[in-house]
Amino acid sequence: TPVPDYLADLLRNCKTAHGGELADYIPELASADPNKLAVALITLDGLLYSVGDDDYEFSIQSISKAFTYAYVVEKLRLEAVMQKVGVEPSGEAFNEISLDQTDDRIKPKNPMINSGAITVHSLIPKAENDCRAETVRQFFSQLAGRELSFDLAIFQSEKETAFRNLSIGYSLRNFNILESDPVEIVESYLKQCSINVTVKDLVNMMSVLVNDGILPRTGERIFSHKTVRQVLTVMTTCGMYNAAGDWLANVGIPAKSGVSGGIIGVLPGQVGLAVFSPKLDRFGNSVRGIDIMQQMSRDMGLHLLEGV
Ligand code: GLU
Repeated sequence: TPVPDYLADLLRNCKTAHGGELADYIPELASADPNKLAVALITLDGLLYSVGDDDYEFSIQSISKAFTYAYVVEKLRLEAVMQKVGVEPSGEAFNEISLDQTDDRIKPKNPMINSGAITVHSLIPKAENDCRAETVRQFFSQLAGRELSFDLAIFQSEKETAFRNLSIGYSLRNFNILESDPVEIVESYLKQCSINVTVKDLVNMMSVLVNDGILPRTGERIFSHKTVRQVLTVMTTCGMYNAAGDWLANVGIPAKSGVSGGIIGVLPGQVGLAVFSPKLDRFGNSVRGIDIMQQMSRDMGLHLLEGV
């Protein structure tokens, strides 16, 4: 079967599955259209296939965490980032006010939970006159190959109800993990989460991870091999909130999900996948997204430990 037909079949077959609930802790997300459904795939050499609502924009949310971690690991030394944020799966909800004493110092367990992602955001070198979120927007646009925008309604809505992320910020500041104003950092982190993407943007962004750090579209090296390996490692162990173990067993590829309903999955050297469907399970992962990813993993034999 040609790839587009295969993808269209996948969507048709899972249209019936309607479990899950819209995220409602950001008021603006609760008004998303629950019927939107899209999938995209990109190959190692940059061929992109997509079907469904593949031009529909949604806020990137936690999927951004993987790319900002990559950015910071690449810009700073990995050792410097490791001083601030660990790589241990937490097994806790993404917004747990979670700090861990793993070695000599207290720090967030990993960069995929909010405490770690807020810390990672604070490590982005601040450009003159611009907030860090703008640096992120420009970087994501470079990877996506088009100018991405902020969803200011989502940003505003989340900012007004950010009590939990603010408490994480203050707690990080208390332990000197954040070194400047926690409110500014948390708000800029929320703006990072509000960047609008389509599933096509997501696979374009991922092509650099599929291709060992080189952007296939331009041939430019964005990340070193070491950075890519580091990011894929934390995606494998911590990418799917507190359902990461289940995901690894059933789907078996490095991944990251977000509360707006997107999931990305990547098999290095082979493919990048992205799905979007807004209804979430109790862990915060897209119900139909998991369904589709699981099916693709089976059909294409993608599980990391398959055939080893
Ligand atoms: N902006 C969201 C938060 O920090 C992202 C959550 C997510 O997608 O998991 O709460």
